[in-house]
Amino acid sequence: MCQVSDWERVVEFHGHVCLGLAMGYRAALAALRVLEADPAADEELVAIVENDACGVDALQVLTGCTFGKGNLIFRDWGKPVYTIGRRDNGKAVRVVMKDTSWAVDEEFAALRRKVFGGEGTPEDRRRLQARQLEVAERILNAPEEDVCTVQETTISLPPRARIYPSVTCACCGERVMEPRARIEEGKTLCIPCSERHRGR
Ligand SMILES: [Zn+2]
Ligand SMILES: [Zn+2]
Repeated sequence: MCQVSDWERVVEFHGHVCLGLAMGYRAALAALRVLEADPAADEELVAIVENDACGVDALQVLTGCTFGKGNLIFRDWGKPVYTIGRRDNGKAVRVVMKDTSWAVDEEFAALRRKVFGGEGTPEDRRRLQARQLEVAERILNAPEEDVCTVQETTISLPPRARIYPSVTCACCGERVMEPRARIEEGKTLCIPCSERHRGR
C-alpha cells in the first residue's frame, strides 16, 4: 500500500516515530481526502498550523506546505488544529485533533514524563522509543472519528510568496528585506537592532 511509503517518508523527515507525528499524518490524510488534493503540485495548498510540534512535520511532507515556499503559516496558539486550503477553488478544511489519551497507557505516560523531564536513563529512552512505535501504530490504525474531526470551511488564502527588495541595516550592516526594516531616528534598522536601540 502506498500509505506505508508515505509514512516512511514522514518518519525519515522527522527523525523518529512518535505519537504527535502519527497524529499529524492522520490530519494530513484526512485533509487531502476531503480536498481531493494532489500534494505533489507545487504551492497548490496552503496550511495554517496552530502549533509547532511533531505533527507539523508530517503535514509538511504530505501536503507540500513548507516554510520556504511560504504556504505554511504558523499561528502560535498551542492548539492541535490544522486548516488546509486549495488555492485553485478556495476549498478548505479545518482538522481538529481529538484527545487521544485512549492510545496512551499509564506506563507510557510515566516514561514520557521521565524522559522529557531529563531524568531518563539511556535504557528509558530506548524503551520509550519502542513504546512510541506501539502508540503511533494505534493512532495510524484507528478509525478517523477517534482521531480527529474534519470540518469544511473557507479561508482567505494569503498571497503567494513574494520577493522583496533588501535594504542594509545602518547598525549591523546586514541585509534585511524591506517590509521588515524599521526606521528609527531616520536610520534604517533590522528588527533586532531596532529593539536594542529602543532598549537603551
Ligand atoms: Zn516527534
Ligand atoms: Zn541590524
